[in-house]
Amino acid sequence: MSTVAHILSAKGRDTVTTQPHRTVAEAARLLDERKIGAVLVTSADGGLLGILSERDIVRAVARSGPAVLDDSVSRHMTGKVVTTRPDCTVTSVMEAMTAGRFRHMPVLEGGRIVGVISIGDAVKHRIEQIESEHSALREYIATA
Ligand code: AMP
Repeated sequence: MSTVAHILSAKGRDTVTTQPHRTVAEAARLLDERKIGAVLVTSADGGLLGILSERDIVRAVARSGPAVLDDSVSRHMTGKVVTTRPDCTVTSVMEAMTAGRFRHMPVLEGGRIVGVISIGDAVKHRIEQIESEHSALREYIATA
């Protein structure tokens, strides 16, 4: 069974974070520089406080105008974050993302952040798995 740990071992545990008092503009620059769609918001001791995705920024600008770029990250982040664990299955992550309509999940181990999984990571993993099952089956048929 494929787990979140399998994805983390392939992509690494690098996690991009920001702090709640930073501005939305700073967070937007971070998303652009790191070519990612969401940033985790952490406290000084590394605890998870929230998540700010490109969708939150678009929504805030659409509703209140570009002045929101000077607001603090904490005003626009989602504070109630759905998380996963390394031993959870990739399928459970995909189900939670589909049900919750979000595309990012922080991975926690013993309450500590150990990585982030995006919908892109999960889909890439599933495609690789299906391709390897497919070639194993073809080989089996060819040698049977
Ligand atoms: P996304 O699809 O990840 O860009 O996020 C869509 C919305 O869901 C945004 O409001 C995010 O702040 C929020 N969001 C993203 N990931 C999570 C998560 N793991 N748990 C709860 N909310 C999330």
